[in-house]
Amino acid sequence: MQDLELFTQEVRDFLAEHLTPELRRAGELCAGIYAEKPVGIAWQRILDQEKGWAVPAWPEAWGGTGWSLEQHAIFQREMTLANAPVLAPNAIGMVGPAILAYGTEAQKNHYLPRIRSGEDYWAQGYSEPGSGSDLASLQCKAERDGDEYVIHGTKIWTTHAQWSNKIFCLVRTDNSGKPQHGITFLLFDLNLPGIEVRPLISISGDHEFNQVFFENVRVPVSAVLGQENDGWTVAKYLLQHERGSSYAPGLQVRLQRVRDFAASERDGSGARLGEDPDFCRKLAAAEIELMAMQAFEDKIFSAVKSGEPVGALSSAVKIRGTELRQRVTELAVEAVGFYGLPYQPEARRPEANVAPLGSGLAATAMPQYLNDRAASIYAGSNEIQRNIMSKALLGLA
Ligand SMILES: Cc1cc2nc3c(=O)[nH]c(=O)nc-3n(C[C@H](O)[C@H](O)[C@H](O)COP(=O)(O)OP(=O)(O)OC[C@H]3O[C@@H](n4cnc5c(N)ncnc54)[C@H](O)[C@@H]3O)c2cc1C
Repeated sequence: MQDLELFTQEVRDFLAEHLTPELRRAGELCAGIYAEKPVGIAWQRILDQEKGWAVPAWPEAWGGTGWSLEQHAIFQREMTLANAPVLAPNAIGMVGPAILAYGTEAQKNHYLPRIRSGEDYWAQGYSEPGSGSDLASLQCKAERDGDEYVIHGTKIWTTHAQWSNKIFCLVRTDNSGKPQHGITFLLFDLNLPGIEVRPLISISGDHEFNQVFFENVRVPVSAVLGQENDGWTVAKYLLQHERGSSYAPGLQVRLQRVRDFAASERDGSGARLGEDPDFCRKLAAAEIELMAMQAFEDKIFSAVKSGEPVGALSSAVKIRGTELRQRVTELAVEAVGFYGLPYQPEARRPEANVAPLGSGLAATAMPQYLNDRAASIYAGSNEIQRNIMSKALLGLA
């Protein structure tokens, strides 16, 4: 116990020294799921170079920390409480673990140090216009031509592709069997001839995702991760990493911000929202549900720690976590009232030095609300999670 207290202090001291006010502010103003590349990579480099904490969950031989589960939880919690920018998970949390599990020595030696240092920035090429929940129906094709594949097709909702120099991509290399068979997992450069990245602007006005087009794109066969036609195995392994998040600590921070705002701001008649019984009831209800969520996450944490299978519980966490995430953003919009209406993207750019109309919460409340509508869709929609739960728990097909 005392060791964990010392560790918590070590994390706090590190954050106090190295998480600059600019990075904290950028973390606070971010409306997306994770920080934009310039901010995220700047913070990742500090974590890597100052403390060796950029890839804490990786094996120690590849730069991991060897922490216990408790230490990982403390680290994440302290980062959230300090408003540290959320690092993009595509490289460190998704393709990195997949390369560790399925990569050749050459692939590990090439890619892992570049992910850790932030030299490579990765996009995820899974979804297609006709293949999202039913991912195995994907049609982006790679045909073998000697020592190369020639890729034709498209990927969509490709988050941060505009900033990525690499993509991990599911392609169809065989159409003869079940849809899951004949998919191959490729790792390649995103700036090859024949690749076009077109922006998709989201309802919040942010440019987070893109559609990527491939026309006669040539990649070497050494780009395969795992085995040709067995990319589904790698893809599923990677998705387990994509879905393993903890929601409660971050939402508690966001809810506290709403509470502080409601306590300080006055409406046109001088009344404080924080004294409005109806709003207080909603805040209290959200707080109670968040406490229950924290207890649920703690329970799962101790199951993982004692080696028990978590199974469909991670689907329940995804559903409740994203529903609560959306609820907290709704309360923020209610709290800021008319200040949520102006479109003021420049006020969310720390480098622009533009003061928001209303408080900082006013600048972020509406974009976060709009952005978080997607939380029940990405990383496996909540309907799909319910299907997984009903199959596992009720034995329904
Ligand atoms: C913010 C965001 C970022 C994303 N980033 C990436 C990325 O970087 N790379 C990438 O590859 N993809 C990304 N995605 C895509 C994401 O994985 C898909 O949106 C998701 O898998 C759902 O697929 P879809 O959009 O095609 O919807 P569909 O699969 O068409 O689903 C439409 C609706 O039907 C429901 N539905 C579908 N099938 C069933 C069923 N069997 N039972 C019950 N209901 C069902 C769904 O729940 C949903 O409500 C991102 C998505 C979002 C929103």
